[in-house]
Amino acid sequence: MSAVIFHVLTLFPEMVIQGLSPSVIGRAWEKKIISLNAVDIRDYTTDRHRKVDDYPYGGGAGMLMQAQPVYDAHRAVTGGRKVRTIYVTPQGTPFTQAKARELANEDELVFLCGHYEGIDERVLEEIVTDYISIGDYVLTGGELPAMVMIDAIARLIPGVLGNDISAEEESFYNDLLEYPQYSRPEEWREKRVPEVLLSGDHKKVMQWRLEQARQRTAERRPDLYERYQEKQLLIRKLGRHKRNNIHLMESLERGCAEVLYSETEPAHWAEEACAETGNRIEAGKHTAEKSHTAAEKHSMKEQNSAEISILLYDRSCKTCMALAANTASGKIIAEKLPEDTEMVIVSESFLRELLIKRGYKVLGSYSQMLYTRKETLSVKHKEIRPLTMEHFPYVCCWYCSDDKCNPGIDDVYVRERIQAGAMYGAFMEGRQVGFVGIHSEGSLGMLFVEEAFRRQGIAASLEAYAVNRMLERGWTPYGHISVGNIASEKLQEKLGFYKAEKTFWWMEKTLANST
Ligand code: SAM
Repeated sequence: MSAVIFHVLTLFPEMVIQGLSPSVIGRAWEKKIISLNAVDIRDYTTDRHRKVDDYPYGGGAGMLMQAQPVYDAHRAVTGGRKVRTIYVTPQGTPFTQAKARELANEDELVFLCGHYEGIDERVLEEIVTDYISIGDYVLTGGELPAMVMIDAIARLIPGVLGNDISAEEESFYNDLLEYPQYSRPEEWREKRVPEVLLSGDHKKVMQWRLEQARQRTAERRPDLYERYQEKQLLIRKLGRHKRNNIHLMESLERGCAEVLYSETEPAHWAEEACAETGNRIEAGKHTAEKSHTAAEKHSMKEQNSAEISILLYDRSCKTCMALAANTASGKIIAEKLPEDTEMVIVSESFLRELLIKRGYKVLGSYSQMLYTRKETLSVKHKEIRPLTMEHFPYVCCWYCSDDKCNPGIDDVYVRERIQAGAMYGAFMEGRQVGFVGIHSEGSLGMLFVEEAFRRQGIAASLEAYAVNRMLERGWTPYGHISVGNIASEKLQEKLGFYKAEKTFWWMEKTLANST
């Protein structure tokens, strides 16, 4: 994978380079994880005095940057390709951690920095895809806002921060501000570090931190706290059918997903089901006027089973998870899938059919298994450790070569997972013999052990090791196993996993997306 490129179109390129070179971002540039390209707009002016501004038509204070140099600088960088181009402006939508996460998925970004009173509107119409502000105040130029955004985005790119979990525990993760932190000495100016942090009890520390984060958010950012509470309410409602809904609950709990649609008391289901099946509904019950096919009966049972309809979107992996209580909600969900969705996970056959009509295809059918205990598992095989890029060829060789077995998995994905610290390997006297991983949408998977090393408990140890890493983060481990893979199901049951009643379908957007 090549470096993520940040182009900055500016009148002060040296300011951008000097501002971003030191520290973490500079090191990521040195390591070629990112690349910075500060372009002097003045180099593209046709004016012989290198002028790039002029008076605004209609009068008014100050000068305006002209269209032509900006347009030519942009063309020089993109060569006419479609690249996401951000005009940093106080007139844009507010920059947030969620926006940073979304932009961290792009391979290339262009930042356009204004100066004086801004930029001629005509060139903005031609090249800008996003208008983003860093706050409700006016600065003299766009360089500081561009640097703020690049810093916030770059540190979310796998490999930029030494410890990728640290980004998951910071402020705004899961709509909470970060808890207070303390370092040595234990006592300073008669203020002691809270005892719980010295206790060595990891579970208690996590509980204390969560409580502190809640209190701090409620006090300092009541707006955020309200959003957090709404999410918690959804999680509680989904928790009534935990086995079937754990993927949705975890995605919300881990702060990965945005709620694009939710309906906790799905309305109109009776009428809709009536229209769909030709049945008459009385007091919410189906009264059959004709005998039903097995598929119709199954669909009617499904329509009663979910009390909640929800559509979640994890922008970082362009994956949606959906649960529909009835066909009416299913149709709304199908309408609301974001344009750039690549995968959707569904658990109702009527929703699967609705998505097929919209150009999605089924990649596979899966059982959902979850581990609800809080105790860590014993890892018998001792040589298990997180993988680094040194192990990338091994994983690719065994895992990416067979499209049919592992749909949607390619070397770009594997590299990203390794860099995110989400893959673990088993070794025998230093030689790698297998691996396991945590998928980008949060499930446990990618388990592999070489044939010659099977039946020695290595797979169970790999799974146990990954489960323990998930528990350390306060997650509930869950995984998706291909329907019919009895060996894998048995292994997970032995470790203490439970199986959900529903079947889960992974669906991929096809190129010929019909609507
Ligand atoms: N006349 C403009 C207006 O009222 O919207 C303000 C122009 S400002 C003096 C010059 C440049 O600084 C803008 O074109 C923009 O690129 C940048 N800028 C200023 N404040 C900003 C903010 N809060 N967020 C992002 N960019 C900002």
